[in-house]
Amino acid sequence: MSELFQSVSYLNGVGAKTQQALADLGIVTIQDLLYYFPLRYEDLLLKSVAEAIDQEKIVLNGVVASNPVLRRFGYKKTLLVVRLLLDNETIPVSFFNQPWLQEKFIVGKQVLVYGRWNADKRSLTGMKALSTTNFSKESLDAVYPTNKKLHQKTLVKLIRQAVTKYSDQALEICDSDLRRKYHLLTETQIIQGMHFPQTLKQAQAARRSAKFRELYLYQLRLAYLKQQDQNSSIGVRENYNEEYVQQFVQQFGFELTQAQQRVLGEILQDMKSPQAMNRLLQGDVGSGKTAVAATAMFAAVTAGYQASLMAPTEILAQQHYLKLCPLFAQFQLTTVLLTSALTPAQRAQELSKIKSGRYNIIIGTQALFQTDVSYQRLGLVIIDEQHRFGVEQRRSLRQKGQSPDVLLMTATPIPRTLAITYYGEMDLSIIDELPAGRKRVETFWLRFNKMDQVQHFLKLQLQQQAQIFVIAPLISESEKMDLHNAEEIYQQLQQEFSQYRIALLHGQMGADQKDTVMQNFQDRQIDILVSTTVVEVGVDVPNASVMVIYNADRFGLSQLHQLRGRVGRGLRQSYCILLADPHNKTAIERLRIMTQTNDGFKLAQKDLQLRGFGDLFGNKQSGIPDFKVADPLADEPMLLTAHQEVQQLFASDPSLTHHLQLRTYLQSQQLDNLD
Ligand code: ADP
Ligand code: MG
Repeated sequence: MSELFQSVSYLNGVGAKTQQALADLGIVTIQDLLYYFPLRYEDLLLKSVAEAIDQEKIVLNGVVASNPVLRRFGYKKTLLVVRLLLDNETIPVSFFNQPWLQEKFIVGKQVLVYGRWNADKRSLTGMKALSTTNFSKESLDAVYPTNKKLHQKTLVKLIRQAVTKYSDQALEICDSDLRRKYHLLTETQIIQGMHFPQTLKQAQAARRSAKFRELYLYQLRLAYLKQQDQNSSIGVRENYNEEYVQQFVQQFGFELTQAQQRVLGEILQDMKSPQAMNRLLQGDVGSGKTAVAATAMFAAVTAGYQASLMAPTEILAQQHYLKLCPLFAQFQLTTVLLTSALTPAQRAQELSKIKSGRYNIIIGTQALFQTDVSYQRLGLVIIDEQHRFGVEQRRSLRQKGQSPDVLLMTATPIPRTLAITYYGEMDLSIIDELPAGRKRVETFWLRFNKMDQVQHFLKLQLQQQAQIFVIAPLISESEKMDLHNAEEIYQQLQQEFSQYRIALLHGQMGADQKDTVMQNFQDRQIDILVSTTVVEVGVDVPNASVMVIYNADRFGLSQLHQLRGRVGRGLRQSYCILLADPHNKTAIERLRIMTQTNDGFKLAQKDLQLRGFGDLFGNKQSGIPDFKVADPLADEPMLLTAHQEVQQLFASDPSLTHHLQLRTYLQSQQLDNLD
């Protein structure tokens, strides 16, 4: 297998320039080239001109009747015309801007040309001259994604060279049992069938096997990582104090739901074990993840460790701090909030206290933790609402310091496909129950011409001491987008509701200002909070029971669900009003489904359907594997099969001693290939 990992520069015809062009396409080794699969194929139909219809793409088989004529015009433009003798007719074929073809057309020689047939003029606009040797009647021509620096033809030539010389060395990812069971091709067959299929059927069979291979390989990597973590991680064994933990839970003022108790049990179990925890806690908006997290942190401290909590925004970090600090203080635990509001001197002081162990609990945003915070004895890291956190980021976190336990929390309910794909190396805990007594948030979609009704409704709610969130897509007026903005709405509402207390909140305000506003809203000093999506995740103000979202069609489903999750947290009946004049069908569908269900899981699945896979999780930075042939969503059954097979493989041969080749292969893979 070593030769496959050689640089492409080992191939004939690859100089520094070509090597760079290939690298730009992500092709570095010969192996990369072998698995650089075509996007699609062009059907090359060999037809007689009698059968061909106007503008159809066909292949003509003829003899060169006269010397080709090359004309140059304009800047770098050329026209090459050659006359082909078919059965009993001469057909002119013209090629634009392919002057090099001139040499191919030697009078008397048999040639194949591919192009677009013009029935009127009985001529062909040539696109390609094909080789007569390996052309069958149904031949297919692979089309590769490429860039300006590298011509399709050069790429095809190099691939042909690589396939000829090296394809038989490819390592079998799927063993013969697996191949027999699922009718899969061998690695060599896949490579040849993908690049140079003779028939459409062959191309399809190769693609099916290539998809399985890709999904299987990805699952293998995740399982292997998980395995490695379990073997190698000398995690921390946190012998927490059960009695204290019980006492801590009792002071919440509510009983944990069954689901909260169950996941807490799973987490504590992991913490007690010597292996490092690597767990994802999933629970719909408002399901009470924070209480679970707080208890786990408390437990870590009773075992003599520090615990940290990372939030995605400063507002959320602040809120966690305000809520948790007093809870912990009752048990003499010390908590620090690391925010950007600290002066360098203050920050340095706090950092030294963290290092010396004076603080038990450290709360902040992810950004604040990226700079080097050193701990005295870190046992547990909790990351809140951070589903955009790649496999590698998660691993690097764990590898920091003493291999602390890691708990990721997310309100984004993850359909099975996604969970297997993106969190395959983690254990999963699910809170599938909301605290008792929660009322469904009644959701309405209204067009802007119904604004009067909305205002009337808000007045009634305000009279009943409700607090209201008003969400706008922009902070201030934008020339580019015809959308409502927070500043404008804030001013309008001040006129409309002059007897009420209204405040503005957005990301451009200073950390201090934001804190004050949030605190005032918490303390019911504010009736209406006009905000951008800075309140999207996690914000918890139980008395707030109404949310109005302007230009709601501008938000994605999961975002709307997150926003709506800010209300319906207390005992009041809560409402969510979506204001929108949507322009397209998908937007209408999103708004409808929001009015129909509060179930985050259903919404996530719908979101997946409406937006597709890549879009939901954003770009590469989000740690999403880049699938080349497979589509985890469309190929879900195959993904599940691959997953099962990998599970079985690792169950029967945990250290891959009977699959040494696979192990070597997995070891040789750069870890960052995952992200
Ligand atoms: P999320 O899972 O969205 O982070 P939170 O942890 O913010 O949810 O909890 C939402 C609200 O529900 C909070 O006000 C919290 O105090 C309350 N809560 C959590 N667990 C329970 C429970 N078991 N019974 C009643 N209220 C609860
Ligand atoms: Mg939360």
